[in-house]
This record gives sequence, structure tokens and C-alpha cells, in this order.
Amino acid sequence: MARKRTLKLHCPTCRKPVKSKDEEFPFCSERCRQIDLGKWASGAYVISSPLQDEGPSGESDEDS
Ligand SMILES: [Zn+2]
Repeated sequence: MARKRTLKLHCPTCRKPVKSKDEEFPFCSERCRQIDLGKWASGAYVISSPLQDEGPSGESDEDS
């Protein structure tokens, strides 16, 4: 049962679609990797992970 999972992952830097087989995964390119490393250096955040597509506006809030 070798079933391939196709996850849609996005570059944390530019949000372009990336593949887990990509050399620069989770980034789409070395450039984006470098940009992300720069964020690390400036302490913008600590974990680099692929982003998932979400709606343009969060509709999880129920304030009615
Ligand atoms: Zn990118």
C-alpha cells in the first residue's frame, strides 16, 4: 500500500508552492532560504515551516 500523499506546501518566504522533494524545501529557492535566515538572525521568528493556504479573511470568529 504505497500511497503517495500530495500535500500543498508553500514557501514561508514568498508563499509560492513548493514540493517536499525540493532541494531547498521548505523554500522554493535558495534566495528565499537566505531571506528566511535573515529573519532568524533578526529574531522575527524561530521556526521555519511551510505555510498552508488560508482564506483571505479569518472567518473562525463568531461574534454575532
Ligand atoms: Zn519562495
